[in-house]
Amino acid sequence: MHIKIKILFIFFILFFIFALPVAASEIQQITFVVGQPSYLVNDQIKPMDAATFIENNRTYVPVRYLGEALNARINWNQKTKMVMLYLNNNRVDLNIGSKIITVNGQTNQMDVAPVLKNNRTYLPARPIAEAFFFKVKWEKEGSKVVVFPPEKPAETNVLSETTGNSKENESEETTLELKISEENSLTKATVTAFQQINYKILKLTAPDRLIIDIQDIRPGNLPPMVIVNFEVVSQVRVGWFNRNPDITRLVFDLNKRAFYRSCLSEDKKTLTVEIFTPKPGEEKLVVLDPGHGGSEPGAVGPTGLKEKDVNLDVAKRVKEILASQNIKTELTREGDNYVGLYERSGMANNLDAGLFVSIHMNAHKNRDANGTSVFYYCYYNEQKAEEIVRQEKSKELADITQQNLLNLLGLKDRGVQQANFAVVRTINMPAILVEAAFISNYAEENLLTQEYFRQKIAQAIAQGITDFIITQKA
Ligand SMILES: [Zn+2]
Repeated sequence: MHIKIKILFIFFILFFIFALPVAASEIQQITFVVGQPSYLVNDQIKPMDAATFIENNRTYVPVRYLGEALNARINWNQKTKMVMLYLNNNRVDLNIGSKIITVNGQTNQMDVAPVLKNNRTYLPARPIAEAFFFKVKWEKEGSKVVVFPPEKPAETNVLSETTGNSKENESEETTLELKISEENSLTKATVTAFQQINYKILKLTAPDRLIIDIQDIRPGNLPPMVIVNFEVVSQVRVGWFNRNPDITRLVFDLNKRAFYRSCLSEDKKTLTVEIFTPKPGEEKLVVLDPGHGGSEPGAVGPTGLKEKDVNLDVAKRVKEILASQNIKTELTREGDNYVGLYERSGMANNLDAGLFVSIHMNAHKNRDANGTSVFYYCYYNEQKAEEIVRQEKSKELADITQQNLLNLLGLKDRGVQQANFAVVRTINMPAILVEAAFISNYAEENLLTQEYFRQKIAQAIAQGITDFIITQKA
């Protein structure tokens, strides 16, 4: 389905190509050795008034010296216990005791927080170094953290250096051109190269971003970051992600979960990517069906957790996530009440819903049984064309939802399975039944008592739904 756009106003930002003299980076590698009050830049010893140490299997380096070694500018706010590092056009913010790292305004979760010891801030090198496109290697032998510079030489202050323009450099460099504009709330990015473009595109969450890897082409003189502050896209980061073969990576930082469509021009030298969120009312209704309820508790876990309560909580969380993406939902029950199976599918049919997702937790008398599965209905001898298509689409929705559940929950993959459940059979739209985890299993029941885990299930289901919707648009 194509989105009709009335052009109200257009932001149009053009990035012209500046040919720059390529300043050779002097840093080949930076080495921190555990226990040593010094570090190495290439072979040069630099003293520190602190030492690298290991705690909980993590190697902590003094942030100040790591920053210095990377040539980053560092600010420290004593009051807020905040460390800010700046390099080229990138900025990294850290807080003592907090696992949040903010890279160019986008927050991300680290697995450990910076610690303060004897007035020095320490952190594993990786999150900071990688934020600045450096690479980090742990060498077990010799207990060394080795940091390698980005393969693209550091460029600072692009505009002021354009006077160093040289025709020779210009012709040697494979260049890319990036244009990005917004029409209504749809972001349109155009990447043009002087050769055919081969690319891969990948959507990531937490935080939401879209990654485009362009094969065999260097970033040329694209700026490392373009801040646009559009409704959906906040900024684009450009990196020379790999060398031999060259890969240019464009990271679109998103303000919200979005859909995208990518398409090459006829000569394959221009890639157009459109990033957008659905308009209200544009998507068909999604009916969420929290299994069981009222007099019917569903399965009950070893410590007494009731499936009906988990199902309802997860369904409400899915509803909230989808609402933030302008996708309308209805629940087959809003509270702890009994609803019959045919009533559930009948409700979705009457509402002329576009999708139906029944939410359950699995159970087995063998308490070792565990894992994630998604069910759909398929009848081998189906005659009605419409119903054949519906069953096929149910399978697609099941596959994509199972994949998201596995990615986010990390539980055992019990696969996408066929089942003759009434709710997914007596229904007119693509329908699945999710069994996210085993409430009868001690470990998984314990997970299901926890909010963060229910939220993860909800995120996975919501993402399955949005991913399915976008595949239907493609
Ligand atoms: Zn159930």
